[in-house]
Amino acid sequence: MSDSERTPLPLVFDEPRGRKKPPRHLADLAPDERTAYAKELGLPGFRAKQLATHYFARLVDDPAEMTDLPAGQREDLVAGLLPTLMTPLRTMEADRGTTRKTLWRLFDGALVESVLMRYPDRATMCVSSQAGCGMACPFCATGQGGLQRNMSTAEIVEQVVAGARALARDEVPGGPGRVSNVVFMGMGEPLANYKAVIGAVRRLTEPTPDGLGMSARGVTVSTVGLVPRMLQLAEEGIPVTLALSLHAPDDELRNELVPINTRYSVAETVDAAWNYARTTKRRVSIEYAMMRGINDQAWRADLLGDVLQERGDWGWVHVNLIPLNPTPGSKWTASDPADEREFVRRLEAKGIPTTVRDTRGREIDGACGQLAATEA
Ligand code: SAH
Repeated sequence: MSDSERTPLPLVFDEPRGRKKPPRHLADLAPDERTAYAKELGLPGFRAKQLATHYFARLVDDPAEMTDLPAGQREDLVAGLLPTLMTPLRTMEADRGTTRKTLWRLFDGALVESVLMRYPDRATMCVSSQAGCGMACPFCATGQGGLQRNMSTAEIVEQVVAGARALARDEVPGGPGRVSNVVFMGMGEPLANYKAVIGAVRRLTEPTPDGLGMSARGVTVSTVGLVPRMLQLAEEGIPVTLALSLHAPDDELRNELVPINTRYSVAETVDAAWNYARTTKRRVSIEYAMMRGINDQAWRADLLGDVLQERGDWGWVHVNLIPLNPTPGSKWTASDPADEREFVRRLEAKGIPTTVRDTRGREIDGACGQLAATEA
């Protein structure tokens, strides 16, 4: 089917026009654009590199600690290049302080969340890429409120920097540490805010002090399956991990659970995931939220296994089962553990490596968008 034959999308894809933009920040800019921008603000160009070092390498936010800048200029430099993008409204902790969820208020009052999850061997930041989401998946708390707006590159990066600061300052049990992984599994559909998300991935992976110096392999972009964007991402030359939120192996059910499926079928979406694995040599992750009596039947496990297996057995894919985190008032609940085990068994019998997601932070409304939904 060609693009012009497709029916127009009933979903909100683009944010409303004419909105005020978030303040421009050094993290919005590529390293080679920063000097010119400082000059544009009437500030000495070479200061941009010093500020980048404070921001990305030293993780400093207090101007008083930036002693290499003239005292009289510090406030102006910070206000110009590192403006405040978000303020924490609420922080909630679980798992003895190793899971921390923060609700942020952005400059225009929009609310987003991020979650820091510390494990013995790594620390993962789960970030939002949009305030709200236009994809309308009925089991997801964020999907119920619609899209408010896209986040800027710097707003996305700032969530990771905030987590990096908390770890560096020994505020999280386990001693001083670093963010090793970033997952775009907070609010929003990252591939619907493609440019800002790619910018953020670049800032995360640029070597310090130009960026945070993370490995691209530690970054996971999770998508409902915007096929053209998945194909584009495969060509970017940044080997991030791609996660596809499949949730059903058949169009009939997926049309309901992930409405974008009415535009891009299971077959087209899984083909795009396969193409990503083939092009980047990165194993794709299939996300599958287990919903009791909805998508957890043995026959659906077999069908999912077939859908993935028929595209190749060279280890291009693995399945990550997510126990559903029920949202308030929703008719869906998590699967029976016995059904979950049988689902895993059947996938593995077809040669598909399968894991069950460890669910952190349930008691702090850990599921996508739940905290922001409570607040709004
Ligand atoms: N829009 C992107 C990323 C955000 S959601 C995407 O859909 O992939 C991250 C993951 O959490 C997705 O797989 C999403 O389907 C899943 N999710 C959303 N609500 C959930 C819930 N209540 N329980 C379990 N998983 C959920």
